[in-house]
Amino acid sequence: SDVEKDSDPVYIIHVTAEMAPVAKVGGLGDVVTGLARACLSRGHKVQIMLPFYECIPKEQIDNLLLINTYDSYHDGNWIPTKAYHGLVSDIPVIFIEPSNQFFKGEFVYGGSYNELEAYLFFSRACLEWMQVTGTQPDIIHLHEWQTGALPLLYWDMYQHLSLKKQRLILTIHNMEHYGECSIEQVNKCGLDGSTYATIDRAVDDRTIGHNPERLSLLKGAIVYSNSVVTVSPTYVQETLCSGWLASTLIRNRDKYCGILNGLDTSLWNPATDVFLPTNFDVQNAKGKKICKHYVQKGLGLSTECTLVRKALVAGEKRVPLVVCITRLVTQKGLHLIHYAIKRVEELGGQIVLLGKASDSRVERDFQALASAHNKGSNIRILLFYSEALSHMLYAAADFVLVPSIYEPCGLAQMIGMRYGAVPIVRKTGGLADTVFDMDDPSKSEKANGYVFEGIDEGSLDWVLERAFSHYKENTTAWDEIVKKVMAIDFSWNNTAGKYIELYNTIKLNSVMTASDR
Ligand code: ADP
Repeated sequence: SDVEKDSDPVYIIHVTAEMAPVAKVGGLGDVVTGLARACLSRGHKVQIMLPFYECIPKEQIDNLLLINTYDSYHDGNWIPTKAYHGLVSDIPVIFIEPSNQFFKGEFVYGGSYNELEAYLFFSRACLEWMQVTGTQPDIIHLHEWQTGALPLLYWDMYQHLSLKKQRLILTIHNMEHYGECSIEQVNKCGLDGSTYATIDRAVDDRTIGHNPERLSLLKGAIVYSNSVVTVSPTYVQETLCSGWLASTLIRNRDKYCGILNGLDTSLWNPATDVFLPTNFDVQNAKGKKICKHYVQKGLGLSTECTLVRKALVAGEKRVPLVVCITRLVTQKGLHLIHYAIKRVEELGGQIVLLGKASDSRVERDFQALASAHNKGSNIRILLFYSEALSHMLYAAADFVLVPSIYEPCGLAQMIGMRYGAVPIVRKTGGLADTVFDMDDPSKSEKANGYVFEGIDEGSLDWVLERAFSHYKENTTAWDEIVKKVMAIDFSWNNTAGKYIELYNTIKLNSVMTASDR
């Protein structure tokens, strides 16, 4: 590639529960792959350590090879464990496969094993692998609560063995998942859980009169990592101001910062995307219209040709297509998604929801909506996960809707823009850092979408009406807006540099050891 190499290469190992595209549930998987690729292309050494989930499609791994067989501790036993090496979309990955039932099942999460204990095992098995193979990264980069026990294990055990020079950095992608567990469970990975049960360490102090038996792996990881990153500057501010972890983050303020996620532009590129019926780019956005027509046809929505007569009568030529691609959880603003589904059609538009619910009540709720609307010609509610369809929908869409209640960073709005879909978002977290309202005169240079603040239907309504009227007003002006959002650089080129700076800072200067705590 033509990326300039950094002069001082760092050796980074990511330890993570997700990696796109082989083990992706949400944005975490995208971020790990994108950041790893950006650092590799700048000349750093990067590996990803991932549980070898049974559901990982092996045909998507190149050069898969068993590299080590070793034992790792769990609950009084040493579990025979295999480490495999392979390339996933050109990135070196080490897959950890215990011989017990951990990570078996049809999906990344929700298997019939104890998830918390499986990730405790995984955290130790990664360090154990480094120990037995003599692997000495400069940086161990952790993600989310799943890897939260690793810093505890590192300072408590492995730095007394052979892993002495590592520095640990934690990226928190979502503060709502804090890895609640008991002291007992922590004991199972070989630590003495009770030593962490204080307010300034890992005790889960969400409520006054908290249960001293409860710990939070995320909190432990915040306290015991050399550096803590979350995925947007606005989310840093929000998390310092509210939520039960605020006091912990304030105590650790000097090592806490926000770095916006980038997009993996080799996976998300409308000019080369293999999932699209035709490719397009800023210079030649015609293909986008073909994608829209193809998706409308494919899903059985009315196309602009069939509508043209009716529309001409009403004085309208074009039908705005809104897509919403999301996990269906409360965080994502379920009631607003609900409302948008009926309101978009009333306003003369079309909407496609691609979403997977993990909660059966939410699933039933949207199933009911689907049965009520999917036979019509303007609404499709698709309740499953599909990478291929998601690419086609971003390419087809005029708007991408992200009405989240909170959103640490959010990728959908950035992907949408790269594919020429103008974002309609709620002003929170990373959405507030990446989308600026078209009608905000103070932001006119950055203006790239539509932003609302309230969590009520009225707020969304107002923004939908504004967006649709801009869209319908003036075709040429709209085409310019589409070009403008497509040209914004959301690639990791922009932000990976901030992580590399951080790697270098903690690698050289940080002196924290367990005894500082
Ligand atoms: P989160 O990490 O909270 O899920 P993000 O916006 O950061 O939210 O990332 C979501 C990612 O998952 C995007 O790449 C989005 O396209 C994808 N995604 C979410 N739901 C689906 C689905 N049902 N099918 C395909 N992709 C999905």
